[in-house]
Amino acid sequence: MPKPQAIVKNSESNPFHEVQRRIEDVGRRLKLPDGIIARLRECERELTVHFPVQMDDGSLKIFTGYRIQHSDTRGPAKGGIRFHPEVNLDEVRALATWMTFKTAVVNIPYGGAKGAVACNPKTLSHRELERLTRRYASEISLIIGPESDIPAPDVGTNPQIMAWIMDTYSMTKGYSVLGVVTGKPLEIGGSRGRLEATGRGCMICARLAGKHIGLDLNGASVVVQGFGNVGAISAKLLAREGGKVIAVSDSTGAIHNAKGLDVEAVMRHKAESGSVVGYRPAEAIGSTELLGLKCDILVPAALEQQIHEGNAASIKARMIVEGANGPATAEATRILRDKGVFIVPDILANAGGVVVSYFEWVQGLQSFFWTEEEVNQRLQHVMDDAFHEVLEISQREKVDMREAAYMLAIGRVAKAMMIRGIYP
Ligand code: NAD
Repeated sequence: MPKPQAIVKNSESNPFHEVQRRIEDVGRRLKLPDGIIARLRECERELTVHFPVQMDDGSLKIFTGYRIQHSDTRGPAKGGIRFHPEVNLDEVRALATWMTFKTAVVNIPYGGAKGAVACNPKTLSHRELERLTRRYASEISLIIGPESDIPAPDVGTNPQIMAWIMDTYSMTKGYSVLGVVTGKPLEIGGSRGRLEATGRGCMICARLAGKHIGLDLNGASVVVQGFGNVGAISAKLLAREGGKVIAVSDSTGAIHNAKGLDVEAVMRHKAESGSVVGYRPAEAIGSTELLGLKCDILVPAALEQQIHEGNAASIKARMIVEGANGPATAEATRILRDKGVFIVPDILANAGGVVVSYFEWVQGLQSFFWTEEEVNQRLQHVMDDAFHEVLEISQREKVDMREAAYMLAIGRVAKAMMIRGIYP
């Protein structure tokens, strides 16, 4: 397997400070009281844990993890858990804050949270990963629960890890608590359609945005950065709509074929070899080159701040559908807007995952499970409504889709805060 490349992040900007600035700007535009803006800027509850894990060689290693709840004003806090060597507190704060606004954009009764452990899951054995997950779950079980804060998968985590968290939490209660996490395997209360939901939401947004800007998905060229859960499924579903996926990348490199890649074959190649690199027929290209390819639709689906002021001007896509959270900095957004690129912002584009997580939680609470068709139809409805609400604000207020999505979301959360009032 090729060696992972260093993750190129724009170290100059801090995603949490960026989202705080956006809250201030949008709050002022919405004429919100200063106190509400000040509340929205901060995370309500932050837990940092340093915990030991016994490694296979008998040694003890200390890991650092976080669980941060930005808001539970509209319902239980909700958000994924990331296992990645470079996570830090401000990144998790930003991710938790985005979750509050994502659940508000699609109008599901949740707040926002995020968790993470600084670790490289690829270098841990299966047993080490299980011990790490269970100990982390037990550390954060102080604040998670089906009525308070519900984790889900994110970068570096998957349904198996959710199963361990659910099992660990259930052991402390003495009974099975299905609703404590979503993104679980089907066998223990997962929802049909959850694994594909974020990518499906991206595809639905690309279809709606395409209709708006006059771009037919059938024949549209597509580039995907980050061929993981979100990126690979987005690529697969866009290809099923007739899109031509010409390039994809992961942390080990990028591949390109101007005639179009067979996405499902690339998925098989990655499952077998651990990398998209080496797939044929395709040529290897650089990660920077990938972002600059001429295409109709670019789906950044890796990590934050991949599109920044240093590379935004070279992007030649007509539309960007943000599969990842925070893939473009504020400065990059300005550059792209001036170039006329239509951006479907992250808090709308990748909300499909949390929408079907909500469906999973509802199904679990009722012990009544739906067919995949029902799940997908309901998802389609929610995404359709949210997309059109955001588009309507963007046209009425003459702002871009990102600003419009934040106006809708911040307006909803602020209204709920004001109705609830302040305790005591
Ligand atoms: P994942 O771990 O399944 O996939 C991430 C992929 O990105 C991997 O293939 C990895 O190799 C690749 N990658 C990492 N660094 C890269 C780089 N510098 N260049 C190119 N590729 C790189 O994670 P995921 O769940 O698909 O999450 C991807 C993004 O989508 C994250 O920003 C996550 O927060 C967001 N997201 C995920 C979900 C979900 O349901 N999983 C929902 C909403 C948003």
